[in-house]
Amino acid sequence: MRTRFFLLLAMVVATLGCANTATYPSTSAGVTASSVTPDSEPIYSVFLIGDTGESSLNPREQTLQILKSQLDKSGKQSAVIFLGDNIYPSGLPAEGRRSRKRAERRLRAQLETVEDYPGRIIFIPGNHDWHSSKRKGLNQIQRQERYIENYLQRGNTFLPDSGYPGPASISLHKSIKDSAKNFNIQLVVLDTQWWLHPHDKPLSKGISSETKQKEKIIADVEKIIRAHNDDEVIVTAHHPLFSYGRHGGNFPVQTHFLPPVLGSLYVAYRNTWGYHQDVANYNDLKDGLLKSFERKDGLIYASGHEHSLQFIPHQSKNTNQYFLVSGSASRTSYVKKNLANAFTSRTKGFMAVRYYKNRGKSIEIWDNKGNIIFHRYLNAN
Ligand SMILES: [Zn+2]
Repeated sequence: MRTRFFLLLAMVVATLGCANTATYPSTSAGVTASSVTPDSEPIYSVFLIGDTGESSLNPREQTLQILKSQLDKSGKQSAVIFLGDNIYPSGLPAEGRRSRKRAERRLRAQLETVEDYPGRIIFIPGNHDWHSSKRKGLNQIQRQERYIENYLQRGNTFLPDSGYPGPASISLHKSIKDSAKNFNIQLVVLDTQWWLHPHDKPLSKGISSETKQKEKIIADVEKIIRAHNDDEVIVTAHHPLFSYGRHGGNFPVQTHFLPPVLGSLYVAYRNTWGYHQDVANYNDLKDGLLKSFERKDGLIYASGHEHSLQFIPHQSKNTNQYFLVSGSASRTSYVKKNLANAFTSRTKGFMAVRYYKNRGKSIEIWDNKGNIIFHRYLNAN
């Protein structure tokens, strides 16, 4: 019976894979774009691009070409974060393996995009980089780290280190010391696949179990946020905490009806027993992180994983926080649209966060043709 159920599911998944090529209007009308920005130029920009692992090298993936033109413009006063799933389908295999060449090409498309860029470069891992959650995940992720850091020769460009979960905490920008409005832009990097990975993964010194390590991750994030209460904080990880796409339990209407019964069965399966990469299956991570963010006004949490672009404002204890999903560099998938309080788009692209001297910041969402399809200025905290 069990086997038959899974066979049925496999058929549904296969059917959906094919049925999923329909196009959707590329943008939601729910949130209107604002064009108000301060008169001044941004003092710093952070570019967020995710799920880049299916990029072509020659010609270079169009999203990467547009990203490059923006990186060239922003120069030293900026950073680019690759939000994981840097190599589909399962990370960087050992040299000599059949799929190694293709994996290298996909990664090189990204590395060649940033090799002459003077800003800060950071790659973080996703589930696919961990051998798609399979047994060899840890080897695969450490191999990718070595490859990227050898190629770029720019120090620590892959974070967190050596398959550890993080958080890593980095000051991206410090405003001038004698200024009254002195502040940091503090980047926090987490490997959320560590949390979900069902096989071998390292524990910090003195930590005896996975449960203890998970408690430590949340406690460390909270500590960092508290220490940077007066700074701008941006937390980056592969997995979203909120999503209007499939991993967030949202499916196109056609999934429920085509094929009949099976479609709804599939939705129910994902929503209840779940696919371990769906938000519903890492509620412990979500709750822990949201709690640690609780009182931090203006916090940004940026992720990939979902192959769409999403801007999701969230209120917590009278603070305004912003959850960004930027996972459509090289693939797109279904995302719910026309939402009243969020912007979503199923287009290839990336995002930029611009920081201004007055502590305001703006979010830009770019498509792969070079258009800003959403812009929102966020007032100073
Ligand atoms: Zn992913």
